[in-house]
Amino acid sequence: MDVQSSPKIQSKFIFITGGVMSGLGKGVTTSSTAKLLQLAGYKVSCVKIDPYVNYDAGTMNPVAHGEVFVTDDGGECDMDMGNYERFTDIAMTKDHNITTGRVYMDVIRAEREGKYLGQCVQIIPHVTDAIKNAVHKIASEEELDILVVECGGTVGDIESLPFLEAFRQMELELGHSNTLFIHVTLAPVLDVVGEQKTKPTQHSVQELRRIGIQPDILAVRCKTPLRDDARRKISLFASVEQNCVISCHDAPSIYKVPEVLENQGMLKSIAERLGLQRTTLKWGNWKGIAESFSKYEGSIKIAVIGKYVKLPDSYVSIYHALLHAGASISKKVDVYWIDSEKFENGGQQNLSMLKNFEGILVPGGFGRRGSEGIISAANFARANNIPYLGICFGFQLAIVAFARHVCKLTDANSTELESNTKNPIVDFMPEQLDVHNIGGTMRLGSHEITITPRTIAAGIYRSDSIRRRHRHRFEFNQKYLDIVTKNGLVMSAHSDSGRRIETLEIPNHKFFFAVQYHAEFNSRPGKAEQAFEAFVKASAKY
Ligand code: GLN
Repeated sequence: MDVQSSPKIQSKFIFITGGVMSGLGKGVTTSSTAKLLQLAGYKVSCVKIDPYVNYDAGTMNPVAHGEVFVTDDGGECDMDMGNYERFTDIAMTKDHNITTGRVYMDVIRAEREGKYLGQCVQIIPHVTDAIKNAVHKIASEEELDILVVECGGTVGDIESLPFLEAFRQMELELGHSNTLFIHVTLAPVLDVVGEQKTKPTQHSVQELRRIGIQPDILAVRCKTPLRDDARRKISLFASVEQNCVISCHDAPSIYKVPEVLENQGMLKSIAERLGLQRTTLKWGNWKGIAESFSKYEGSIKIAVIGKYVKLPDSYVSIYHALLHAGASISKKVDVYWIDSEKFENGGQQNLSMLKNFEGILVPGGFGRRGSEGIISAANFARANNIPYLGICFGFQLAIVAFARHVCKLTDANSTELESNTKNPIVDFMPEQLDVHNIGGTMRLGSHEITITPRTIAAGIYRSDSIRRRHRHRFEFNQKYLDIVTKNGLVMSAHSDSGRRIETLEIPNHKFFFAVQYHAEFNSRPGKAEQAFEAFVKASAKY
């Protein structure tokens, strides 16, 4: 008998490009498209292309580029990866964030290894081949039905050209039934008459065509639903069927966007084009989850005190985790972003404003600027019995505040902030001493954490062990364990066989809990991360 290996599935690829300008919500369109396909029963995933030359997002300024999203496998990724995870509830790996830096690194490494011996290494075909390989590798290794690939930047940018060229080639190689292009554009309204302008979309499609790509679907961002006349005009000029010109008008919550797309027949359009058989959506609890972000009974005010508040995107996962937690108890969380520098250099009297909030959250951060303000705010939350949640830097500086004000180690500090401090209660992790390169060398990614029974942490997680993601170089210095414990701080979870402390808590406080890990990356709509949920519940109570 002939034994034939089962044919490997042919994955299909949806490419999402952006036109007109940045910030149109390409990430949400990508996530929502993937969600629709997932709800139709397909095995999907997403990829983010970042055309910048950095190897990853780890070395970029959060105020300029937004949060660094950390994956289970320790990737320091673009923040759009967070949306992919929140929508699909699939843990992405770092391979899903492809940058120009990574592609060139691969090509140059291969060149040095002699893989292209005798050839002149060029953007076409060598760089474009490397891009195609990276995308194909994910689809085949994960045996995906469909991979949704979001190309960062705006069509017309020099940096994104090799990527778009690679996708154009993929369409040629794989055929129409295996590739589809969605272009995200904008229909702005300029005058009081409220006419939706279509010219920017027309121009941006022309730009895309010049590169050799004809979009199949246009996702047009607009404030109110796209009007029929605008849809007709766009269809005509862009040569895209009217039913494939999709209105992406403002929705009450991003989790409603899959419904907005589906109400216009998005899945059907994709299915027809790609020859997909399954076109019935099984919404499950998704609609209810999306609805929970607009059906609130009351609200609470949470102060987020950090260093990068000028751009709320630098804490985007924190923001979503707070919203997830609020939605779980039907409370709208109003987040107030407060610059920690407000509380230092004579700004101590500003601390009293914090009494106006139901809870105080201190997120991650790096470096000295603004750190004294954070220490003062953490102390204020403790002394005034205001619910406090500390994340990473917010964990470390809560310890410094406790050491100074409760243990009376007035000069306690983190060596990150003062390298010669006499009481280095937060110190470099020993493993970090030999590290010289900055990129990708922190303690990164998911680690197992053991929770001490009968602690607040055990109550929050209802488990004796969890896995959470990390991104840090410093840690609590356990030489001080006795003194902080005697003074009432409970270190309630550890990792790496006890070498690392992961959570702290203060009993007899309304809620004072801080974690060394980044709890926010594990929060999902309908499944808020437990520490956030406990914090928001505690805040709502008082
Ligand atoms: N700067 C601190 C460290 O490196 C905290 C990092 C963070 O908040 N992500 O340990």
